[in-house]
Amino acid sequence: MLDFLRRIVQEVSSADSLDTALKMLVGSVCEALDVTVCSVYLVDKSIPQQDELVLLATKGLREEAVGHIRMHFDEGLTGLVAQRAEPINLDNAAQHPRFKFFAEIGEEELKSFLGVPIINYGKLLGVLVVQQREQRRFNDDHVAFLITLAAQLAGAITQAGASEDITKLMRGERPSRDYIEGLPGSTGVAMGKAVVVYSATDLEAVPDRPVTDLEGELESFRQAVYAVVDDMTTLNRSMQDVLPAEERALFDAFAMMLEGGSLIDDTERRIKEGNWASGAFRDTVKEHARIFEEMDDMYLRDRADDIRDLGRRVIAKLQFKEDGLPVRQYPEQTILVGEEISAVQLAAVPTGKLKGVVSVRGSGSSHVAILARAMQIPAVMGASDLPVGLIDEQEVFIDGYGGRVYVHPHEALRAELTRLIDEEQQMTRELLELIDLPAQTQDGFTISLFANTGLQTDINPALSKQADGIGLFRTEVPFQIRTQFPGEEEQEKIYREALEAFAPRPVVIRTLDVGGDKMLSYLPVYEENPFLGWRGIRISLDHPDIFITQVRAMLKANRGLGNLQILLPMVSGMSELRQAMSLIQRAHSELLEEDCEVSLPPIGLMIEVPAAVYLIGPFARHVDFLSIGSNDLTQYLLAVDRNNERVGKLYDTFQPSVLSAILAIIQGAHIHNKPVSLCGELAGNPMGALILLGMGMESLSMSAGSILAVKRVIRGFTREKAIDIMSRALTMEDGSDVRLMLTQEMEAAGLGGLIRAGR
Ligand code: PEP
Ligand code: MG
Repeated sequence: MLDFLRRIVQEVSSADSLDTALKMLVGSVCEALDVTVCSVYLVDKSIPQQDELVLLATKGLREEAVGHIRMHFDEGLTGLVAQRAEPINLDNAAQHPRFKFFAEIGEEELKSFLGVPIINYGKLLGVLVVQQREQRRFNDDHVAFLITLAAQLAGAITQAGASEDITKLMRGERPSRDYIEGLPGSTGVAMGKAVVVYSATDLEAVPDRPVTDLEGELESFRQAVYAVVDDMTTLNRSMQDVLPAEERALFDAFAMMLEGGSLIDDTERRIKEGNWASGAFRDTVKEHARIFEEMDDMYLRDRADDIRDLGRRVIAKLQFKEDGLPVRQYPEQTILVGEEISAVQLAAVPTGKLKGVVSVRGSGSSHVAILARAMQIPAVMGASDLPVGLIDEQEVFIDGYGGRVYVHPHEALRAELTRLIDEEQQMTRELLELIDLPAQTQDGFTISLFANTGLQTDINPALSKQADGIGLFRTEVPFQIRTQFPGEEEQEKIYREALEAFAPRPVVIRTLDVGGDKMLSYLPVYEENPFLGWRGIRISLDHPDIFITQVRAMLKANRGLGNLQILLPMVSGMSELRQAMSLIQRAHSELLEEDCEVSLPPIGLMIEVPAAVYLIGPFARHVDFLSIGSNDLTQYLLAVDRNNERVGKLYDTFQPSVLSAILAIIQGAHIHNKPVSLCGELAGNPMGALILLGMGMESLSMSAGSILAVKRVIRGFTREKAIDIMSRALTMEDGSDVRLMLTQEMEAAGLGGLIRAGR
C-alpha cells in the first residue's frame, strides 16, 4: 500500500495538467484498492459563494458525465462528505437518507460507498469517492489509505489547478479564478513582468522560457555540461587521499552520464523543441529520476537523488556567464518571483527596476517582506499555489494589500486594478502634505517617529526629512548582500553614512541579528528549529571576533557626531546582556588605547523574547533604553513561526495576549524611567500605532513608507481617546475582535481609507 501511495503521489505531482493528474489518480486508486469505481469531485471555484461540486474524473462511471454532473453540498452522499468534511463509509449507499440517484452517471449497480474529503490547509477542495458493486463495508485499511492519499494530494491538486488556470490565461481563455491568493507582504499595487529567480538547489523552481537563439542555447548547455564534467574530475582527484576508490566511483559515473547518452540527447531535443536549456534539462532530469524512483531495487531507487544532484550542478552553471555575472536581464518593470527570495536576489535588481515581489514561501513578517517594505515596494508572500515555473516573463499584477497575484488580468479586472493604483497615488499625495507637520495628537501630545532601515538606498533625503531619526538599523542586511564578513573599515563607512545623514538626530544601530530566516551565504548553519537556534546575540557572543569588529566600527563611525545608540537583539537573560556589555566596553577601551578618541554611546536592549518581558525590571536597570521587537515577540508568544505561510493566519500581533505583554514592557520601562520604543511592524500599522499611543508609547520606529500614514492617525485622535480604545482592546478575547473595534474607530474618525488600503 505504501508503495502504491508513493507512486500515485509522484504521478499526480508530476502531471502537467489537472486533467491528467486526476485521470491518473482515479485509475491508480481503482488498481490499488481493487474497486469498480473511483471518482473525483472538486469544488467549482468559478461560482463564488456557492458550494457546488463537479465531477472531474472517473474510472468506472460514464465518461460523458465528467464536467456535467454537479451537486450542491446538501445533495447526495458526496455532498454530505463535503458538508461534514469527514469520511463516509457505507455498505449499502441506497439505504442512507441522503442517497441521491444520478441516472446520468451509471451507478445503478453500485452498493458500497466510501467518500473522503480533499482538504488543503483547512480549505475543502473536493471529494474522492470509491464505489463497489458488492455490498461490503470498506475496511479500516482502505479508509486509512484513501484519507492519507487525499491529504497528500491536496497540495498537488491545488498546484495543478493553478497551473491549468495560468495555461488558460496564456491561451487567452478565462480561468476558474482571477487571482492566486497569498498573504499581504508589503502594501501597494504594481504591474510588471515576472522575473522568476530560483536557487539551483530547487529544481522545481526552474521556470520554462522560450528559446530565442537555438544555437546559442545549445552551446550554453554544452559549456555547462563540460564545466560540471571538469568539476567532477577535479573533485575525484582532490579526494584521492580522502575517499576510497569505490566511493569516488560516483564522480566517474556522473562524468560518464554527462559525456553522452540520453541525458544529453533528451535535453538537446527539448531545447530544439523550444524550451531554454535550464527548463529542458530540468525536465530530462525529472524524467530520468522518476524512472529510477519506480525501480524495485532500493540501490537503483537511490540513484534518482544522484541524477537530481547532477541536475542542480548543471543548472547552477547555466545561471552564470563565464565572467561570473548572472545571465539574467531585468525588464524596466520587474516583479521578482520565486519559491523563496533572498536579500541578495532583491539587491541584484538594478535600482529603479524593481516594482514588486512575490514569494511562494514566507509570510508578512518574514524578513524579505520587511525589506520590501523598507524599499517601499509591494510584496505578496506565501503564494503557495503559484506555479512559479510557468509565469516567467508573464505580465503580472500584484496587490500587496490583499496578498493577491493576478496573471494577465482581463480587461474588466485591469480597470479595477488600475483604479486601485490611482487611489493609492491619491492617498500618497494627500499624505505628503503632512511632511512638515508634527506627529501630534489633537490634545497636544507629540510622538517621535523614527525609520527602520537596512539597505543603504533607504537612507535618502526624502526619508531623512520625514523621520526623527533611525530607530532600527538592521545591520544584517549589508552583511547578507556580501560574500564575506565586511571588515572594520568597510563597516565604519556604512554606519558613518547613516549617522551623518541624520545627525544630530539619533541613529539606533543594532548589532548583527542573523539566524532564523536571515542567513549569511558565508556562514551556513543548518538547524531543525532555526528561530529557536543560533541567532542574534547568541552568534555575536560565540564570535567575539565578529562582534568586537562590529562595535569598533560603530564607535569609530560615531566620532565627531555623537548620535549613535547601540541596540542588542534577541537577548533572553541577564548573562547575555552582561557579556555583551563587557565586550562593548572592551572594544571601547581598545580604541582608547589605540589613541582613537571614541565615546561610549547609550546602549539599549530589544525586548523580543518572552523571557525578557518577565525580566523587564533588571534589564531596564542595566541599559539606557529599550526597544520592543513586536515581530519576534509575537512569534514566540504565540508559538507561530513568522516565516511559515501555513500558520501565517495565526500570526496576529493584535491578539490581546501580545498586547498585554507589550503594555507590561512599557509599564516596566516607565517604572525605571527608561525610554521605550517599538520597532516591529506593529508600529507602522495605523491601528497598531493607535493602540501604542494609548499605551503611553513616546516613540515608534517603522518602515519609511508608513511614517506619514501613522502621523495621520496620531493627528486624527486625542490621546485620551487612544487610551480608551487601548483599554477596551485589552478586555477583548480575540485578535479579530480587537481588529474589528479598531476598524470601526478608524472609520468613525474618517480614517477608514488608511486601513482599507491596509497601510
Ligand atoms: C522584531 O523582531 O520586531 C524586530 C524589529 O526585529 P526583526 O524583525 O529584524 O527580527
Ligand atoms: Mg527581531
